[in-house]
Amino acid sequence: RFVVFEGGDGVGKSHQAAWLAEWLTDRGVDVVRTFEPGDSPAGQLIRQIVLSPSTGDLSPRAEALLYAADKAHHVYAVVKPALERGAVVICDRYVDSTLAYQGAGRVLDLSEVESINRWATEHLLPDLTVLMDLAPEHGVGTMTERDRIEAEGDDFHERVREGFLALAARDPERYLVIQARDSKDANRAAIAARVGALLGL
Ligand code: C5P
Repeated sequence: RFVVFEGGDGVGKSHQAAWLAEWLTDRGVDVVRTFEPGDSPAGQLIRQIVLSPSTGDLSPRAEALLYAADKAHHVYAVVKPALERGAVVICDRYVDSTLAYQGAGRVLDLSEVESINRWATEHLLPDLTVLMDLAPEHGVGTMTERDRIEAEGDDFHERVREGFLALAARDPERYLVIQARDSKDANRAAIAARVGALLGL
């Protein structure tokens, strides 16, 4: 089973993903926790290109293709092998991030970005996507150190947020949308209930 955490910058995805991995491990589940972009040697190099301020102004299409290349390799080298051996894969960001950041954020045609990414990921879809929603002023707006993309303006991050919400609205069965500002315990209970049901725990 494949569970993905999505959302803007500074919403707390990695904390909840780490907590879920521990919760499942405690229940005897074989878990692989991973992230995009960058969870492979090739991915680390791609991550440097897309995030380093020294990259300067990068064409939106080049940016989209670099993220897609990272995903293609990540699915091939990390996600699929783990799923094939029966592990539960918990991934911090996946295709929705690129649809939100490069599609909505950079204003590229959503269906084109989507078809490139479906091809890149061999059409692998998550069984569940936990979308953590938060107004950018409470997330990325509070971050003091920002990478090349986090450094974008408020309008960009607002488009990203709306982009994520639109994806969840398109296919509500496959999403759990939680408010990142709600209590951590309430959110954990909602995630545990949903993942527990998915895995029959
Ligand atoms: O989640 P993490 O901080 O590792 O993401 C790295 C950076 O890449 C973030 O600044 C995020 O905004 C950006 N990103 C992006 N497009 C994606 C995935 C991540 O712009 N498809």
